[in-house]
Amino acid sequence: MPFKGIAAIAVALGAVAATAAYGATRETPSLLRPPGALHEGGFFERCVKCGRCIEACPYRCIVAAPRDAGFQAGTPVIDPRAHACRMCDGFPCSTACPTGALEPVATRDELRMGTARVNKDLCLSYVGNRCEVCYRACPLIDEAITIEFAAREGDAIHAIFEPVINEDVCTGCGLCVERCVVSEPALAITIEPAT
Ligand code: SF4
Ligand code: SF4
Ligand code: SF4
Repeated sequence: MPFKGIAAIAVALGAVAATAAYGATRETPSLLRPPGALHEGGFFERCVKCGRCIEACPYRCIVAAPRDAGFQAGTPVIDPRAHACRMCDGFPCSTACPTGALEPVATRDELRMGTARVNKDLCLSYVGNRCEVCYRACPLIDEAITIEFAAREGDAIHAIFEPVINEDVCTGCGLCVERCVVSEPALAITIEPAT
């Protein structure tokens, strides 16, 4: 994984570790876990940090959280900006998990790692450029993400070709985040808290 990716995970995990250090519960870190992960509390109870999911991933997109990540150190995480999940047939990562921290995933339709969200302040589409790279990168093009056209206020020349996420279909694989062309990606994967 590029240093940038490790650093991003370390920063995210640092906030979590700080929360734990102050005696809060071990809940709600917004980490992107491998396919089939239980909600965060259940995942953490079951994951023994054996690394089998990491070894099983042919794309090397799962990494162990770094040592300075507090109680999360060694747990498997995905930084989609570095290496997004390819949603492999058979999901070898979740199949390899010996404890049930990752439950088997039968098909892409079942997969819900998180949901992509577009930051309109960063996305090139909203300044009148045509980009659509995220749209073309999506394995579920025209299902999980579509392009919608809109007039741009105060601009008689350029329209907005807006990437719109279908939250009912998006799996949270993160390929759109990996491929986004701006240096601070205009998409992020959000993880819904367990209900
Ligand atoms: S589905 Fe494939 S690419 Fe995605 S985390 Fe699992 S093994 Fe890696
Ligand atoms: S995370 Fe992005 S690439 Fe993956 S399904 Fe959702 S919109 Fe498509
Ligand atoms: S790739 Fe990034 S900048 Fe381009 S349309 Fe998608 S979110 Fe916007």
